[in-house]
Amino acid sequence: GAGAQVIDGKAMAADLRGQVAGHVARLQTEHGVTPGLAVVLVGEDPASAVYVRSKGRMTREVGMTGFEHRLPAETEEATLLRLIGQLNVDPNVHGILVQLPLPAHIDEALVIGAIAPDKDVDGFHVTNIGRLATGQAAMVPCTPLGCLMMLRRSLGDLSGREAVVIGRSNIVGKPMAQLLLREGCTVTVAHSRTRDLPQVARRAEILVAAAGRPGLVQAEWIRPGATVIDVGINRVTDAEGQQRLTGDVDFAAASQVAAAITPVPGGVGPMTIACLLANALAACCRAHGLPAPD
Ligand code: NDP
Repeated sequence: GAGAQVIDGKAMAADLRGQVAGHVARLQTEHGVTPGLAVVLVGEDPASAVYVRSKGRMTREVGMTGFEHRLPAETEEATLLRLIGQLNVDPNVHGILVQLPLPAHIDEALVIGAIAPDKDVDGFHVTNIGRLATGQAAMVPCTPLGCLMMLRRSLGDLSGREAVVIGRSNIVGKPMAQLLLREGCTVTVAHSRTRDLPQVARRAEILVAAAGRPGLVQAEWIRPGATVIDVGINRVTDAEGQQRLTGDVDFAAASQVAAAITPVPGGVGPMTIACLLANALAACCRAHGLPAPD
């Protein structure tokens, strides 16, 4: 084939952040309101620290107020719950994000459940999951939301499309499937127990790979002309002994079969953070009784 169109997530994300920044500026001049996003990090997981830093930087870049709460790894669950309780009632905080994973002695579901659903910019609270599943206005998890935006940009109307999602996690696979269902796709959710995954994947006009397995999806798994969204972020060591990031899809080979494909890095990752900012903006608008921008 001539080679797939590479979906530029980095450029799309910069574009989306620019739109968010415009709305933030308008909120300030017209309503005197500045969106505030609180990020809570417990412990010193290096990957989490990198994410929290770049989230904080981009929050400030779009003109929002970033509140960073860094707690030691041995922080008690009750202390974290108390902090969330304070953020829930803080009128300057419109969005709350607790960076996962939390240390093993803390119950993640309990902590996420303590976040006020309207401030739950990650969309992980069961109330938001339930709202999404029942077609109500919901805070939608950032990674699948970014994937959906890239699919819409690439394909337009998704109605009637055959979609396969590889992965069934609460933060990526399941909400991705819900979003595609909402768009009118015929959705298959595959996972580690799926029989003959290559054949299942080959049905897909839209293939979303979110397994966390480097190079899992090979060229033969891809239906010619499909749009492939690679959510995987895997740290691997290459032949020269260099650490690098790679996705779940064999990008070079897949590009010869797919019509459009996202790269790693520079695909889903940047869109995820941009969607976080869009969610925080929407939360702020709703908190002030203003229509959320679309
Ligand atoms: P999880 O480990 O929570 O879930 C992985 C899912 O993939 C599971 O449902 C698992 O099946 C399935 N799976 C694993 N191996 C296989 C296999 N060989 N064949 C078929 N299915 C398989 O991961 P996450 O959902 O949290 O993340 C997935 C990937 O996306 C990771 O690489 C992660 O780093 C990345 N990610 C990227 C983000 C971004 O911003 N770009 C954000 C979040 C995640 P089962 O349920 O049966 O175990």
